[in-house]
Amino acid sequence: MSALMQTYARLPVTFSHGEGVYLFDQDGRRYLDGICGLGVNGLGHAHPAVTRAIRAQADKLVHTSNLYRIEAQEQLGARLTALAGMETCFFGNSGAEANEAAIKIARLHGHARQIKKPAIVVLEGAFHGRTLATLSATGNRKIQAGFEPLVAGFIRAPVNDIEALRQIAANNPDVVAFLAEPIQGEGGIYPLDADYLAAVRQLCDQQNWLLMLDEVQSGNGRSGDYFAYQGMDVQPDVVATAKGLGNGVPIGACMARGAAASLMGAGQHGTTYGGNPLVCATALAVIDTITEQQLCANARTMGDLIRTTVMADSAAAARIVDCRGKGLMIGFQLDQDCGQLTAQALAAGLLINVTAGSTIRLLPPLIIDEAQALALANGVARLIADLN
Ligand SMILES: *Cc1c(COP(=O)(O)O)cnc(C)c1O
Repeated sequence: MSALMQTYARLPVTFSHGEGVYLFDQDGRRYLDGICGLGVNGLGHAHPAVTRAIRAQADKLVHTSNLYRIEAQEQLGARLTALAGMETCFFGNSGAEANEAAIKIARLHGHARQIKKPAIVVLEGAFHGRTLATLSATGNRKIQAGFEPLVAGFIRAPVNDIEALRQIAANNPDVVAFLAEPIQGEGGIYPLDADYLAAVRQLCDQQNWLLMLDEVQSGNGRSGDYFAYQGMDVQPDVVATAKGLGNGVPIGACMARGAAASLMGAGQHGTTYGGNPLVCATALAVIDTITEQQLCANARTMGDLIRTTVMADSAAAARIVDCRGKGLMIGFQLDQDCGQLTAQALAAGLLINVTAGSTIRLLPPLIIDEAQALALANGVARLIADLN
C-alpha cells in the first residue's frame, strides 16, 4: 500500500472478481457497478466473448512490436475506421496517448500550412488526459497546478459559444485545429449543443482547421451511438478513442480522414506496445459484441430509464439542479458538493462516481438490463434524497 505513490484517494474495498454488471469484494459482497472502471467495461465484467478472445490470442501470440505487420491490428483498423467514417488509424495504449497523436497531427497540419507556432482551440472544463500536452489541453487548473511550464499552443474557449470561437478565429491566425469532447466527461457530463458543433464544423472548413473530437469516454456505444458525433450529425477530421474500446485491456486509437489521414509519416510517431495482437484481438471482439447485440440502442433506452426514474423520485429531484447526458453517460448535478456519496453508495452496494464536486456521474455497462437499471436508479435516488 505505502509503496504506491499517493495519486488516488481510494475507497477501502478490493474486488476479487466480477460477472456482468456486478463486482464482488474479497468477502463475497456483491456491488452493482454504475461506473464500470470509469467507462471502460462497457460489456461488464468477465464477458464471455472478451474472455474467449483474450484466451485464444494469448495462446497464440501476445506481442511482436510494430516492426512487423500485425494481422489483428490491420483488421481492427479497418473495422474501427469504417464504423467511425474515418480513413486511417494509429493505436496506442490509452486515451491520453490517442489525444497526443491528435495534437501531433494538428501540429503537422500547421507546419504544412507554414504556421511556425500552431495553436489548438480547447474548451473550458475539458479533460484530455494527464500527459504534459494533454493536461495542458485540459481546462482544469487543479490538474495543471504544479506541472508548469505547460505545453504552449492551446487557446481556451467557452463551451457552446460560437461567437467566442469566431472571435478567436479572427484574432489568431496561428490556430490550426479545434479539440473537444462531444460530451464533456470529467468536467461534469456536459454535451455540446448539436447546433454549436455544426457551426464549429463550418468554421473549421472556412479556416482550414482540423475538427478533432475526443471520444475517449463518449465513444464505443456509451452515448447511445457508436460515437457521440454520429448522434450530432457532424463528421470530424480526427477522432481519439480509448476506454470502452478494449473493455479493460489497454488500448487507444487516433483516427483521421482527408488530408489529416496521411500527415503522419514513417518515423514520425510510434509506440512499443500499441496495437499489439492481444489488445487488438480483444477490441475486435468488443466491437463485434457491441454491434451484434445492439448495445448502442440499449445504452439509449437504459440511459433514459435511469434518468427518468431518478427524476421521478420527488425527494431526489428536489436536490437535483440539473440532469444531463446522453445514453449511459449520465450526470446529476446536485445543489451541494457530494463527494461523500461515493463511500455511502459503496456501503449500499452501489459503485458510482462524483465529478466536478457536485455532479454524480454514472457510466454503467452497456449490457445493463431493465431490472438492473431500475435498481441503480432507485439506489441513486435514495442516496440523493438522504443526503444532508
Ligand atoms: C479518460 C479520458 C482521457 C484520458 O484517458 P487515459 O486512458 O486515462 O489516458 C482523455 N479524454 C477523455 C475525454 C477521458 O474521459
